Amino acid sequence: PAESILETIDRLCAVVPNYPTPGVTFRDLTPVFADGPALRGMVDALLADFEGTFDYVAGVEARGFLLAAAAAYASGHGVITVRKPGKLPRPTYNEAYSMEYGTNSLEVHIGDIPHGSRVLVLDDVLATGGTLGATARLIERAGSSVAGIGVVLELDGLGGRENLAGYKVRSLRTY
Ligand code: AMP
Repeated sequence: PAESILETIDRLCAVVPNYPTPGVTFRDLTPVFADGPALRGMVDALLADFEGTFDYVAGVEARGFLLAAAAAYASGHGVITVRKPGKLPRPTYNEAYSMEYGTNSLEVHIGDIPHGSRVLVLDDVLATGGTLGATARLIERAGSSVAGIGVVLELDGLGGRENLAGYKVRSLRTY
């Protein structure tokens, strides 16, 4: 029988102990992105749960861009670019979020998301949910709604789902 996308992710995802800091197990999806059928399988599986419910696909810098662009192309929608601070040249909304050490923030151009849009948000990994929570707030600040949140991997026990309570969250694989 053909391998499922879940099995493909397990086979290709590289596990890197103690990266970027001791004690963290980093799940590196770059080999999954590099595999043609796997890339298509991930994007199709993420889109399947949200079909007909969104007008735009937002990607979070940087790995989320890959998924969002492919999903937008496949579904005939446009991409919204959610970036790290200081990268976007025009006025932005900015949302801060806390990380293990200190805070970071994300930005989206004011005006890039038409008011009242339904936005599907994609990223590679859900850990604490700080990144995706800030992204959701950016979309709402722009007067639009979050149609759903899709990730390839969800890391259990870090509170990500709890931090995104109220949103429809779909992950392809949980570790
Ligand atoms: P968070 O804001 O805590 O949900 O972190 C999510 C972001 O950090 C994602 O965009 C991931 O790319 C990255 N990340 C966090 N932890 C890991 C991990 N263990 N393996 C791979 N990526 C991770």
